[in-house]
Amino acid sequence: MARVFNFSAGPSVLPEVVLKQAADEMLDYKGSGMSVMEMSHRSKVYDNIIKEAEKDLRDLMDIPDNYKVLFLQGGASQQFAAIPMNLMKNGVADYIITGQWAKKACEEAKKYGKVNVVASSADKTFSYIPDCSDLPISEDADYVYICHNNTIYGTTYKKLPNTKGKILVADMSSDILSQPVNVSDYGLIYFGVQKNVGPAGVVIVIIREDLIRDDVPTYCPTMLKYKTQADNDSLYNTPPCYGIYICGLVFKWVKEMGGLSAMKIHNEKKAAILYDFLDSSKMFRGTVVKEDRSLMNVPFVTGNEELDAKFVKEATAAGFVNLKGHRTVGGMRASIYNAMPIEGVEKLVAFMKDFEEKNS
Ligand code: PMP
Repeated sequence: MARVFNFSAGPSVLPEVVLKQAADEMLDYKGSGMSVMEMSHRSKVYDNIIKEAEKDLRDLMDIPDNYKVLFLQGGASQQFAAIPMNLMKNGVADYIITGQWAKKACEEAKKYGKVNVVASSADKTFSYIPDCSDLPISEDADYVYICHNNTIYGTTYKKLPNTKGKILVADMSSDILSQPVNVSDYGLIYFGVQKNVGPAGVVIVIIREDLIRDDVPTYCPTMLKYKTQADNDSLYNTPPCYGIYICGLVFKWVKEMGGLSAMKIHNEKKAAILYDFLDSSKMFRGTVVKEDRSLMNVPFVTGNEELDAKFVKEATAAGFVNLKGHRTVGGMRASIYNAMPIEGVEKLVAFMKDFEEKNS
């Protein structure tokens, strides 16, 4: 078996021990005589799986009791619509635009109410996080929206925006479980799981209970109403059963790794290896301002498109795959999520050094 070092932005590398466990349990989950894929979502055995997954996530993130955890479908993109439909009481929301995903969420929200862009880093191709200490927050804003880690551009918030008392809503698709989070700072956190947590097809919403309303607009589909899902413990209809099971295994793995504080140290160590090299290299350079660098997604370029393409090609042949940058940024991007071992980053940097020597 030859596993590659997979630097994909998502779906992404998962912990090998989790994949092995899933393989071991594939035909007969804990003596049930069937795979989790074949099980009724109403069965006792599945009930234990989803309950345990929720409990482990609650433990890991220290989620307060007045927050609900919802296991949903439709990807992160579906939440771009669900959030305004559920949270816009006054019909107003403020968005901070730090990349494509925040922009898409903002555009979607415009279908449901008045949306104000209170800050943006579009002027410099989203290579930084705007100063959010004193924004023109709307008096009647129902929430302030951010994308906490910008997967495409490789920036992240080191300090949360001053929302002037308004509810903060965050897309944490690409940095969930990478470091501790103070859940109480947010009204709603959500994430598509296919980067740090599991296979595509599951999106998890962590929402403060008082924000779950019954009086959402009548056009809001039953399935997108958080109350439907909350009242039914995410089992209103058939949930993405197998995906949730894998998420549960990953939660256990993160716990075994020492939880989110340990994960942060591990991620900082990995990111430093790559950023330190980028800062010292004469060929490669990072594309975002140092203060706002993501621990998860590291875009870099040589400044020469042909050389970028040569690098990606040779890296792929050497077993470092999915390093091509997003089409809007070009160059390269190494996504180094929780499950990327330190060895993967060390070997990538060694390969980059070698490439630099041979090509300069
Ligand atoms: N938000 C962020 C931060 C993302 O990186 C992505 C892309 N995976 C999305 C939202 C959209 O996710 P999905 O494909 O699950 O809709």
